[in-house]
Amino acid sequence: MRKIEDELILGYKCSACKAVTNNYHTLCDSCYSKLTKLTSTCTKCNSSLSLVDNICIVCKQNKKNLKRIYSNYSYAYPIKDILANIKFQYAFRVKNLLPHLIDLSDVNINEYDAIIPVPSHFYRKFRRWSHPTDIIAKHIADQNNIKLDNALKRTRYTPYQFKLDRNKRSDNIRDAFLYTSISKYNSVLLIDDIITTGSTIEECAITLKSAGVKKVDCFSICIV
Ligand SMILES: [Zn+2]
Ligand SMILES: [Zn+2]
Repeated sequence: MRKIEDELILGYKCSACKAVTNNYHTLCDSCYSKLTKLTSTCTKCNSSLSLVDNICIVCKQNKKNLKRIYSNYSYAYPIKDILANIKFQYAFRVKNLLPHLIDLSDVNINEYDAIIPVPSHFYRKFRRWSHPTDIIAKHIADQNNIKLDNALKRTRYTPYQFKLDRNKRSDNIRDAFLYTSISKYNSVLLIDDIITTGSTIEECAITLKSAGVKKVDCFSICIV
């Protein structure tokens, strides 16, 4: 890892390709231009569509507890590399970069009573310097003056979803969350960094709805 003094002399390292860049938020112009914004939406529920699907994961897998998902990018270069490299970055730099990548123009943000990050297990949080989901959630809450609610917790360690077969992912995550607040919200926006099959966010939605939340949408920076 480079020291801060080195960066002041040599320039910053791009968070995706590692090339030296003068952009203080650490994504070089070339990588910035390669960000693949998702523009298509599901004809049934208006959720964001990944590049490979023509029906969203909410409708495809009949996820009844999630209402709608919003996602800005495809999980591909350079977003994939940024998220993989984040653990090696200084936390304050990631805090500068991620807000630049968030686009909420399709989200009716004022309808939400709370912003709730999908929790990472404390063990994983301990190993990572900065947890992208928390940074994204805090940014959205602060910018829009909405309550940030951290009362959704993990009850046990679960292996990473992407390391498992597709059909094992729902089992892996079942009953893995607990909502520790008595807040009664009408509508909340769940925040995650990467959506793979949607099993994790659906399980979070089940937990929140059984705690009395009426509507759960989800925003993620990218979708597989
Ligand atoms: Zn780059
Ligand atoms: Zn849909």
